[in-house]
Amino acid sequence: MQIILMGAPGAGKGTQAAFLVERYKIPQISTGDMFRAAVKNGTALGLEAKTYMASGKLVPDTVTIGIVRERLAEGDCKAGFILDGFPRTVEQADALNKILDEQGKKISCVLNISVPSEYLIERAVGRRVCKSCGATYHVKFNPPKVANTCDNCGSDLYQRTDDTASTMQNRLAAYESSTRPLIDYYKKMGVYSEIDGRQTIAKVTEDLINVLTSVKD
Ligand code: ADP
Ligand code: ADP
Ligand code: ZN
Repeated sequence: MQIILMGAPGAGKGTQAAFLVERYKIPQISTGDMFRAAVKNGTALGLEAKTYMASGKLVPDTVTIGIVRERLAEGDCKAGFILDGFPRTVEQADALNKILDEQGKKISCVLNISVPSEYLIERAVGRRVCKSCGATYHVKFNPPKVANTCDNCGSDLYQRTDDTASTMQNRLAAYESSTRPLIDYYKKMGVYSEIDGRQTIAKVTEDLINVLTSVKD
């Protein structure tokens, strides 16, 4: 199954991807996670992505498409994957169609977790991420059992440097101008579904799974 998880920054893509990975045993491919790993490791890719990410702008399409093309060629993607945070522009969506065409695959489903912008800054600013396993929490909406400590692995949590109210303004603007047009794009392709992302985490998961069980693959 080739699943695309769409949604504005802070909508809940990463949180939901974790459940879908567990259930469908296919990898999550998060371009944001790939860029953060590259920044941490100080690679050429990381150096290139860093300034865009810090200001909340999109990394240029050629760079982003290149890393996704390489990732989708890996063996663990054969049975499918969950794209989280890609595509974010029409150019990326066109490139993805081409890559899948070459692989003889198609998009099974685009799941848009729809959340109005007034919710998103609070979600992003309260987000905390595990340093070791990447699990995502929220100080108010999904707190860990012990403050600042990962339930899964006991490691410390951290706050992403781009999860500030001011960077979120740019990220939301980038979403509106570059990513929102993908809603019509995927509606026209006949693969689009929308889920109400204002609901609880558990209810959003339930709705996603309901859509996915009706998808023919
Ligand atoms: P969020 O989870 O809040 O949506 P991500 O972790 O997906 O954020 O992305 C963090 C940053 O990484 C983005 O603000 C952007 O700079 C960069 N990025 C991630 N995915 C893409 C993409 N598909 N195209 C361009 N830039 C991207
Ligand atoms: P994205 O990957 O789309 O940027 P995340 O999954 O990282 O979003 O979620 C952003 C923040 O909002 C996290 O702190 C997460 O715990 C929290 N969150 C996710 N889904 C919900 C929800 N349905 N209700 C309230 N908070 C949520
Ligand atoms: Zn952890």
